[in-house]
Amino acid sequence: MQTMEQSLNELRSSFASGRTRSVAWRKQQLRAVLKLIHDHEDEIFNALHQDLGKHPVEAYRDEIGVIEKSASLSLSSLETWMAPKKGKLPLLFYPAKGEVLPEPLGVVLIFTAWNFPISLGLDPVVGAISAGNAVILKPSELAPACSSFLARTIPLYLDPETIKVINGGPDVCERLLQLKFDKIFFTGSQRVGRIVMQAAAKHLTPVTLELGGKCPTILDTFTNAHDMKIAIKRIVGGKWGPCCGQVCLGIDYVLVEEKSASTLIKLLKEFIQIFYGENPKHSDSISRIVNKDHFERLRNLLRDPRVADSIVHGGSIDEGKLYMEPTILLDPPLDAQIMTEEIFGPLLPIITLKKIKESIEFINSRPKPLAIYAFTNDEAFRKQIISETSSGSVVFNDVLVQFLCDVLPFGGVGQSGIGRYHGKYSFDTFSHEKAVMQRSFFPELEARNPPWNDFKLQF
Ligand code: NAD
Repeated sequence: MQTMEQSLNELRSSFASGRTRSVAWRKQQLRAVLKLIHDHEDEIFNALHQDLGKHPVEAYRDEIGVIEKSASLSLSSLETWMAPKKGKLPLLFYPAKGEVLPEPLGVVLIFTAWNFPISLGLDPVVGAISAGNAVILKPSELAPACSSFLARTIPLYLDPETIKVINGGPDVCERLLQLKFDKIFFTGSQRVGRIVMQAAAKHLTPVTLELGGKCPTILDTFTNAHDMKIAIKRIVGGKWGPCCGQVCLGIDYVLVEEKSASTLIKLLKEFIQIFYGENPKHSDSISRIVNKDHFERLRNLLRDPRVADSIVHGGSIDEGKLYMEPTILLDPPLDAQIMTEEIFGPLLPIITLKKIKESIEFINSRPKPLAIYAFTNDEAFRKQIISETSSGSVVFNDVLVQFLCDVLPFGGVGQSGIGRYHGKYSFDTFSHEKAVMQRSFFPELEARNPPWNDFKLQF
């Protein structure tokens, strides 16, 4: 077993050898990522089922499919992304040539969360490889089947002298964070994000922090019954669909006018039943809570009697099976933990407002979210949401789909994160844009040199 220092030294000398910089090496590694996920599709399905009870359809869409798309895009775009961009220099600098050259950062450390343990691990690796870096990947210990799968297969497919997997929990993370990296890419909670940023500050290491928070969904009052129905169907799909609400971008709560709340609740219940049957506990289309600690954390959110009283649907649990029913709460107190902390589970508070426009003030009085979703046909309201709120992303009339769209940057703002990735943004995140200027020895303007005088002041 290599020590962490030995691993880092090996990565440093491989990087220094220059081999990760070539297009050939980058493409070879990207093809190897694709081969890895194709050769082991069934094993990935099994690992995701073991860790989270994910259905293969969900596993394909949110994990294998995401990597397939991102590695293929990088493969086909690499030369364009790597090409230096010409900088048009002002006349003052002539004769000269200027360009912006993306260069790899060096050895990067990637920490991942457990809820999408394959895609959240491999997607930043794809970005780091595309940009020509050496990598240490530290998967989440809370998805052990997936993290051991990655530790076993990555060295068999990818260049083991430049890409390494180190498994372990907080103690391993803390030791890794004492070492000096050229970049840390972290996906996880705000609490650990702070620890990572503090450790990075010691070495002035740049960080990307992909964090979470409470993502609000605004549901306008619709005159059109069809649109209202589709909106609520999408809310159900987005809330309980991927990983049973254990999603950074998932809907945390819904804001709705008082007069629409009963229709919302009625349709939410209807679609829960259509999607997951009479008793969702027997459905294989809904994932399980990741472990006992998170189960207990969610149960504690419901222990507050004021919160328990606000349950209008669901609330049943099966601790042995780590199952928690899709649960709807109507107007839980705003100072209760369920409304002050990220829920990250299958509990959905509905907060009623007199007028839906009050949602802007509601959102602005809380930390900036990773995403805001708004279902509305009111163009003026959409413009108001865009211009008067701040969030990592804003999506109208749908939820979560921005995650799958490689041409848009994915990341937070304020407490929901620092930096962004996906598609070309991943390449940029793991690159330094170096300014290159080439000048000639002629002409030599004496006005630039001392001694200073009034004549030179005119320049
Ligand atoms: P977490 O912060 O507990 O763990 C994330 C990583 O940090 C893991 O690899 C873990 O091993 C490591 N870690 C744990 N304790 C540490 C410590 N003391 N020092 C250093 N590292 C430590 O997060 P989680 O429970 O795995 O994931 C849930 C959180 O992640 C939620 O807040 C969610 O919103 C967020 N998340 C964000 C995104 C995103 O893309 N923005 C995606 C998924 C999850």
